[in-house]
Amino acid sequence: MSSRSCGGAERPDEWILRGNHRDAWVFGASDPLSGHVAMLAEAKAFGALARAGHRPRRTLMYLSWDAEEPGLGGSTEWVETHAAEQLKRKAVAYINTDNIERGLLNIEGSHAFERLVTQAADDVLDPETGVSLAARLRGAWRVAASRPGASDTARARAKTAADRSQNLPLSPLGSGSDYASFICHLGISSLHFSFGGEGHSAGVYHSAYDTWEHYTRFDDPGLAYAGALAKLSGRVVLRLAQAELPPQRYSGFANLLATYLGEIKALTERKREEASVQRTLLKEDLYRLADDPRRPRGDPTPLSPVPWLNFAPLDNAIERLKVSALAFDAAVSAKGLDLSPATKAELFAMLAPLEQALTDDRGLPGRPWYRHLIYAPGRFTGYGSKTLPGVREAVEEERWSDAERQVLTTAEAIQAYASGVERARRLIVPDAFGDA
Ligand SMILES: [Zn+2]
Repeated sequence: MSSRSCGGAERPDEWILRGNHRDAWVFGASDPLSGHVAMLAEAKAFGALARAGHRPRRTLMYLSWDAEEPGLGGSTEWVETHAAEQLKRKAVAYINTDNIERGLLNIEGSHAFERLVTQAADDVLDPETGVSLAARLRGAWRVAASRPGASDTARARAKTAADRSQNLPLSPLGSGSDYASFICHLGISSLHFSFGGEGHSAGVYHSAYDTWEHYTRFDDPGLAYAGALAKLSGRVVLRLAQAELPPQRYSGFANLLATYLGEIKALTERKREEASVQRTLLKEDLYRLADDPRRPRGDPTPLSPVPWLNFAPLDNAIERLKVSALAFDAAVSAKGLDLSPATKAELFAMLAPLEQALTDDRGLPGRPWYRHLIYAPGRFTGYGSKTLPGVREAVEEERWSDAERQVLTTAEAIQAYASGVERARRLIVPDAFGDA
């Protein structure tokens, strides 16, 4: 790993971290250098600003990771080394990129940053259509959701996208690039940006054919999307570094948590229904009738009965967060600009580490290194994300006592997070009875 930092002029102990790996299986023109050149372009631009006398208010740290391909080695070692002393206290956010190619913007990360990302994506043009990245994405999502067989998630996203007053929803983070240690292990708010879907990197990914020649002919001729990436993540980095008020907004996150919990409840219901139907079929000996009598497969293994789980602690925690989020979002929009510089700075500092409240030091069942209770890669899905992973995977794998415990642990974390949002709101609008 190598890093360069530009110390903040006013708030040097608030760090904006920006990284991309530089190791590759072979030549790595696409993976990782297409993202790495964008990162270096940003660093170059910030260097020029610094030489011209414009130091950022907060510290920018540019991180070029080694050993990503064998298992996120460089970033993981660095995060573990600096976790307790530095990162938990100082990190505001980590912004990651990796391989990209022509195509649509893909945005993943901590939901509280949806407004920040949407505003940046409104300000950068898609190199080939000439409309903003955000406008193209909103259009593409709506078209995708209109096609036969579109998923519920795609339809919900299109509905949000159709309303220009709403932020672009971020996809939850799983794993597969260097953000994993920041978000999953420490609970540092993280973002990951890429472009894709219209290049031809799929067949050459991780092979000796991932070359400059192939990349500049087929994946991103003229490196136009690398330029767009630098403009997008550079804006996000700079706005985080310069912001007077915290950019976080919480209502979108609270609503998504309710959606995630709804999915888990529906999964539990489905399992209960399946087990009950199977019990009837077994009792009436119907599998024997459905079998080929000359080649019988026999009865299936009976599904275990699904207990009634008490999701109320999570329902209550999410409901409280919805209320706190709405109050904070409204207060910061209405009154934030009128606050004194000292209160603005206090507010920013208060919310920067708040995502860490969503972690549990004991970690997820069976994998204690993964501590975030909202986002994790699935135990069996590789890179794919599982939201509310402690509860969701316990239900999927029918570990019912783990499910009960994880409901409580996750609910406690969301309650603590809501308390943080409420403290921040009281800093803007003190309660009527004076408990500011
Ligand atoms: Zn990569």
